[in-house]
Amino acid sequence: MSSPDVGELEETYLVNAFRSGWIAPLGPDVDAFEREVADRVGVTHAAALSSGTAALHLGLLCLGVKPGDVVVTSTLTFAATANAITYTGARPHFVDSELETGNMDPDLLERALGELRMAGEDVAAVVPVDLLGKAADYTRIEPIADAYGVPVFADAAEALGASHAGKQAGAFGAASAISFNGNKIMTTSGGGMLLTDDADLARRVRYLATQARQPAVHYEHTEIGYNYRLSNLLAAVGRAQLTRLDGMMARRRATRDRYRALFATVDGVEIFGGADDRDDNCWLTSVVVDAEVTGWSAADLSAALAADDIESRPLWKPMHLQPVFAGAQSTLNGNAQRLFETGVTLPSGSALSDADVAFVIAALERFACAHE
Ligand SMILES: *Cc1c(COP(=O)(O)O)cnc(C)c1O
Repeated sequence: MSSPDVGELEETYLVNAFRSGWIAPLGPDVDAFEREVADRVGVTHAAALSSGTAALHLGLLCLGVKPGDVVVTSTLTFAATANAITYTGARPHFVDSELETGNMDPDLLERALGELRMAGEDVAAVVPVDLLGKAADYTRIEPIADAYGVPVFADAAEALGASHAGKQAGAFGAASAISFNGNKIMTTSGGGMLLTDDADLARRVRYLATQARQPAVHYEHTEIGYNYRLSNLLAAVGRAQLTRLDGMMARRRATRDRYRALFATVDGVEIFGGADDRDDNCWLTSVVVDAEVTGWSAADLSAALAADDIESRPLWKPMHLQPVFAGAQSTLNGNAQRLFETGVTLPSGSALSDADVAFVIAALERFACAHE
């Protein structure tokens, strides 16, 4: 669906880093990669880390999230968001989605914050998720969180290159986390970054990510730290990928446009995310199926693709429906569950060849024709 799109350029950067002798989780490629991503997103500080999950974990810790707190987040997300909240000892409170984008519904967020305050809970952060490369509605979310005095920490893991209201995803809130996992819009094979305009927060993230070492030759420790830094070799791969980010987004957008053209003629199927995707990075393209109109379901479509050896998947299974979070509180409107039941994510990667895309389109056409 979204396999790594790497080639000679990445190889050259990687080999050069290797030959430079900087094989450690520190080095000139890490420093340069941090500067380049910060410049691209429009923030002043970036800390390269071993994963997006590590960025979420340290960001939450540095915003002061502690055991017993509540962190309000989107229910429609990948488990890493909720897992990182749990690592801090806080409890996630899940908020449901806007139907069109799957992103956190600002009205429900407001209701959740009001009810949590009435219940006397300490809400330590709001973590909106930029689902599948579309930024959440920060224009509404930030003032709502502000009114409750709660910092926003954006999970922009899927959204590098996307924007909202003229600002890049990753530049909203007090800080944000992005991911360079193998399936993301660009990859370091594994990695992530914490982005912020807050110099103290960035410094503290770096300190905690390197085992909380005090500046003493014998390594003095006054706090528990983590080993969460990104390797210099992987940062080199990331630098090569970043030079290609716009091209890789354009490629994904072109594939989405092909799906959009195809499904324009099929009643009851819509491209997920709404009509206006100019600000999306088009990381993954999904369709939403109204089985009452089509006469077939999202699962039927997936099964037909699987028969042609084509990968597809439902949207994320909402966190409030996951057995591991069965005890968590949530503020729901049913949209995330509906999207989970009616959505199918299609092959979207920028490494797909023209022939690959044509193969998928042909399979979809056969399916649509057979069910007219
Ligand atoms: C991928 C992802 C993460 C985790 O990033 P890793 O680099 O894989 O740890 C977190 N949140 C969301 C929404 C993601 O899609």
